[in-house]
Amino acid sequence: MTNTQIEEYEEVNCCTCDILFFIRKDFLDRKRNDHSAFHCPNGHGNVYPITNEQKDAQLAITENARLKKDNETLREELLKEKDKNIIQKIFT
Ligand SMILES: [Zn+2]
Repeated sequence: MTNTQIEEYEEVNCCTCDILFFIRKDFLDRKRNDHSAFHCPNGHGNVYPITNEQKDAQLAITENARLKKDNETLREELLKEKDKNIIQKIFT
C-alpha cells in the first residue's frame, strides 16, 4: 500500500537579503494570520505586518465589546433604579 501526501509550498523572497526560498503554504497562512516572525535560510526575520484593514477590524471588535459592556452596566443601573422607584412607591 502506498500513501501519497501532497503538500503545497509557496515561494518567498526575504525582505532583507532577497533570497528566494520555499515554505509550506499552511505555515505561511499561519504567519499571515498571527503576524509572527519567520526566518529566511540566512537568518533574517520576516513578518507579514498587520494591514490597516486588520487594525480597523480589531478596533471595531474592541469597541463593540466595550459598548456591549457599557450597555450591560447601564441596563443593570436602570434595573436597580427601577427597583428603588418601586420600593419608594410602596412605602410612600
Ligand atoms: Zn534573508
